[in-house]
Amino acid sequence: MENSIKEDKLLRGGQFLVKETKAEDVFTPEDFTEEQKMMRDSVKEFVDREIWPKKEEFEKKNYALTEEVMGKAGELGFLGVAVPEEYDGLGMGFVSTMLVCDYISGATGSIATAFGAHTGIGTLPILLYGNEEQRKKYIPKLATGEWFGAYCLTEPGAGSDANSGKTKAELTDDGKNYKINGQKMWISNAGFASVFIVFARIQDDKNITGFIVEYDKENPNGITFGEEEKKLGIHASSTRQVFFNDTVVSAENMLSERGNGFKIAMNALNVGRIKLAAASLEAQRRVTDVAVKYANDRVQFKTPIAKFGAIKSKLAEMATSAWVGEAASYRAAKNIEDRINLRLEAGASHSDAELKTFEEYAIECSILKVACSEDVQNCSDEGIQVLGGMGFSADTPMESAWRDARIARIYEGTNEINRMLAVGMLIKKAMKGHVDLLGPAQAVGEELTGIPSMDKPDFNELFAEEKDMIKKLKKVFLMVAGRAVQKFGQDLEEHQQLLMAASDILIEAYMAESGILRAEKNVKRFGEDSQKEQIAMARLYLYHAVDIVNQKAKEGIASFAEGDEQRMMLMGLKRFTKYDRMPNVVELRNTIAEKLTSENKYCF
Ligand SMILES: Cc1cc2nc3c(=O)[nH]c(=O)nc-3n(C[C@H](O)[C@H](O)[C@H](O)COP(=O)(O)OP(=O)(O)OC[C@H]3O[C@@H](n4cnc5c(N)ncnc54)[C@H](O)[C@@H]3O)c2cc1C
Repeated sequence: MENSIKEDKLLRGGQFLVKETKAEDVFTPEDFTEEQKMMRDSVKEFVDREIWPKKEEFEKKNYALTEEVMGKAGELGFLGVAVPEEYDGLGMGFVSTMLVCDYISGATGSIATAFGAHTGIGTLPILLYGNEEQRKKYIPKLATGEWFGAYCLTEPGAGSDANSGKTKAELTDDGKNYKINGQKMWISNAGFASVFIVFARIQDDKNITGFIVEYDKENPNGITFGEEEKKLGIHASSTRQVFFNDTVVSAENMLSERGNGFKIAMNALNVGRIKLAAASLEAQRRVTDVAVKYANDRVQFKTPIAKFGAIKSKLAEMATSAWVGEAASYRAAKNIEDRINLRLEAGASHSDAELKTFEEYAIECSILKVACSEDVQNCSDEGIQVLGGMGFSADTPMESAWRDARIARIYEGTNEINRMLAVGMLIKKAMKGHVDLLGPAQAVGEELTGIPSMDKPDFNELFAEEKDMIKKLKKVFLMVAGRAVQKFGQDLEEHQQLLMAASDILIEAYMAESGILRAEKNVKRFGEDSQKEQIAMARLYLYHAVDIVNQKAKEGIASFAEGDEQRMMLMGLKRFTKYDRMPNVVELRNTIAEKLTSENKYCF
């Protein structure tokens, strides 16, 4: 197994906050191997042939088309990228898994959802938690698209509170089977799946248990379905209620152990979250692409609208969010891939290596899910605006892109839940000593009360100011979250608005840093002249991040600190969010927009 990275250089989950990352140690999309580029191009070619031209059909709720496209994706191996070769998959690493998910998802949210539900939450629980017989029986069929998978966790009364489901599994008298009774809701792929991962409670267990339940139309075994849900977007993604009426499942189909279902459900979601971030990227690229072409063509006041500053600003912001999303998603993906490989080298089984790693990087998975799902929404919203009335028309791809993007903030854990999880998990890691937050938080506390350092970075060095700013943004998080933990202890989880504000600071620090590191690495290898637009995007994103951090930190500080303490923290915040050299944001946006319009496409 090839392993270019040494353990000491590999950032552990959550460690980005307290450990400086060097540009040469991050993976960026410019690092894709030839094999990965070939994979990307073949997925793109598939989407341009099978999905993009049929967008209208997807909007007309052609569920059969979704099933057909999924079948073809299976034939080409796209459903089995992450599946080991011994189970008829391609056995590629996590970066390639993200890559396929990214490029297959951009043309319609219907395929993005069907693909995500099948390859992620529909397949992974068996791959990661199934025993050898279960894997041998189901994974090859799922990897090749012979069967499709669905994941039944949500119920009418159990959404975000996923462990509260009422579906029951009762052992039959002979001890050989379980009978499942209950109602599941919002189940993606329900209309065409043959394998359902079902979570049910045995007796009065504290935690639910996972089961693999087969569905065969000829022998429905007590499984019935509600009508297709009428949804705002992802029109051709099948979403139904699933009812289990004395559904008999062999006891051998229990996943892992009794009571382990909540853990399975959550770990499958960790992977789903980072893949959802990837699934938001190509949509942003395509939307930006359409907007750039339209802006170049559309003439008003005898001028192509692309020449107007108001439009340039939008195009630049759209491209920037896509580009930074790529930087952060693939940075985390490679950390995950490297960590899995290190665990495999140390003798862990494939499933163990993956499981432990996804658990370790759950913070980054939540950060990316929130950031990229909100970026794709903003990007498609501005895309509509660039097209004006035509953007509002269902005849252009903006309208469905906007509707499709909306679901990403809801499923795989709502963005509120993910925001709180990100901070909560980080604090837990600190308490367990996995990430040293205490030392750095104390240092920030001392800095606040000490004499401010007059040391300045060497501004002749590219990104000196920006890298210094990233360090300061991390200090803001440590200052706000550190003090909040001291103040509220275990009760912090009751202070949700404070947690949400802290989470936004964390998210912005990770995303902005990823953008700066990508640009820096590219400047080092390709030269500054060729990277001026990337430099501009990294700076533009950071500029917004600083504003958000400032606003959220103020909100947080004012919510729990008073008098001298509040004044001290606000002064610290001012220092930590102050630019020595304020960037010229208008010029940055113009640089980015001019490149986009001259290339007439999303060109980064
Ligand atoms: C199109 C679609 C496809 C889906 N696919 C699947 C699938 O394949 N399988 C599956 O099992 N599920 C699926 N879901 C369900 C999805 O995961 C849930 O909708 C989601 O987890 C939210 O649950 P809920 O809808 O019950 O909302 P609720 O949990 O009722 O949340 C409502 C609001 O309250 C907030 N909220 C809830 N609890 C808290 C809290 N503790 N603190 C602060 N705010 C809170 C939420 O953030 C949200 O804003 C799908 C949903 C949709 C719409």
